[in-house]
Amino acid sequence: MIKEQTQSQAQAVVEQTSSKLPAVVALVFGAFIVMGAGFANSQTVHDAAHDVRHAFAVPCH
Ligand SMILES: [Zn+2]
Repeated sequence: MIKEQTQSQAQAVVEQTSSKLPAVVALVFGAFIVMGAGFANSQTVHDAAHDVRHAFAVPCH
């Protein structure tokens, strides 16, 4: 009984963690795209991010 309960609690923790992981990864990746590429010193990286933004029809200037 106790072992089953511990196992289901562990399963719940795994399910909680695995359901949040994609969201966290997407958030970090998105923050990098906006901040990392947007404020990059490299003109090439900045221009590439800028061109992608235009390709997706996001208004910017
Ligand atoms: Zn632009």
